[in-house]
Amino acid sequence: METYFIETWGCQMNVLDSQRLEGLLQQRGLRRVAHAEGADVAVLNTCSVREKAVHKVLSRLGELHGLRRENGRPGVVGLCGCVGEQEGARLLARSAGLDFVLGPGRVSQLPQVLDAVAQGRRTSVTGFPAGPDYDPDTIARGSSARQYITAIHGCDQHCTFCIVPTTRGHESSRTLAEIVAEVTGVVERGGKEVTLLGQTINAYRCPATGADFGDLLQVVGAVPGVWRVQFVTSHPRFFTRAMVEKIASVPSLGTYLHLPFQAGSDAVLKRMHRGYTRAGYLDLVAMIRTAMPRVTLSTDVIVGFPGETEDDFAATLDVVREVGFGQLYGFVFSPRPRTPAARYPGRIARAEAGIRLERLFDLQASIQLELNQAMVGRTVELLLDGPAKRGSALWQGRGADNRVVNVPGWNGIAAGELATVVITGATPHSLLGERREPVTRPA
Ligand code: SF4
Repeated sequence: METYFIETWGCQMNVLDSQRLEGLLQQRGLRRVAHAEGADVAVLNTCSVREKAVHKVLSRLGELHGLRRENGRPGVVGLCGCVGEQEGARLLARSAGLDFVLGPGRVSQLPQVLDAVAQGRRTSVTGFPAGPDYDPDTIARGSSARQYITAIHGCDQHCTFCIVPTTRGHESSRTLAEIVAEVTGVVERGGKEVTLLGQTINAYRCPATGADFGDLLQVVGAVPGVWRVQFVTSHPRFFTRAMVEKIASVPSLGTYLHLPFQAGSDAVLKRMHRGYTRAGYLDLVAMIRTAMPRVTLSTDVIVGFPGETEDDFAATLDVVREVGFGQLYGFVFSPRPRTPAARYPGRIARAEAGIRLERLFDLQASIQLELNQAMVGRTVELLLDGPAKRGSALWQGRGADNRVVNVPGWNGIAAGELATVVITGATPHSLLGERREPVTRPA
């Protein structure tokens, strides 16, 4: 085996897991190729948060099987991530072209699984080990200036619609010392922006010292060379005033805060088992904005949750209007296997849920346009990611508030550079900027 290909679906956790898988493949001497048809090993790192994603993965497996029949490649096909954990060995029975299944709690076992496959044994390894399955030294992080670092594995919240506690296991925090050592290493290798990851990141509690999430951010934000620190995903039930004040005091903190509210009606929130009310959520937003006046909030919303009435949905739109989110990720309720909400009565017809989602997106687009237009004339500092599209003269970067800014390219520009720009134009989903002066890297 000489080459590998990885396709990543889903969230930032999966992006990081793909880097872990890549590191293990590279340790075996494999090099990355751009297409599955040129790979000795092809890995699909999957997401099962929504039903459609599972169908897409199964259809992609069928395509890879077809490629192998025609060209003999990819030689080995593996499926990792949350679909692997959810379906396990059943997938081997359903998909003849699949050689192995590896759950997100078993990433480090990839080498043993490849050995088993080489000996002709189709293999499924899922479940969660008693100890940690995470080795920062084997992550192939590449040269990106943006880097993800896990602070908490798993989730114990059991929101009634969510499959994540099943596919990613129990919540467990890494020690503050481990996280800081990883952040230090990342920055030494050129990282500038560090995003701490966890399904409920603000539930963080260091198992060695008892430090909470506010303490963690203060320490990580002070690591020399960290230009910006971000985090996802916060759960409204875990913020306290003391924690918010600690977070607000971190000078390198980004101004973007993702705070899912999911639904604006207390009845729906109760059936979702979210652990807060609409009023509690709005009080928290006010508390955060008092402590961090420049914060841009983003959120997740589910529409068409079982039993959601038109009044319930109107309450969701009210919260969207009242808060004025900078970004919103909206989804139609998707019943996931073995979750309580999948058995709830009152399923909303797909067409009706789709209409509600469009109404939500229309409202959000008008809010985003207004917020983005208010940025025109302001100076912002960007971390540049690269051309907006392949071959484009426009380059894309993000400011501290995570908003996408497109800027005309110029000679000598490179991904990972910092740039100061003045905002000159706005659409609902992005900003246009003009460069003003070169910015040097922080010491
Ligand atoms: S907090 Fe709720 S929605 Fe988020 S991962 Fe955990 S169970 Fe899922």
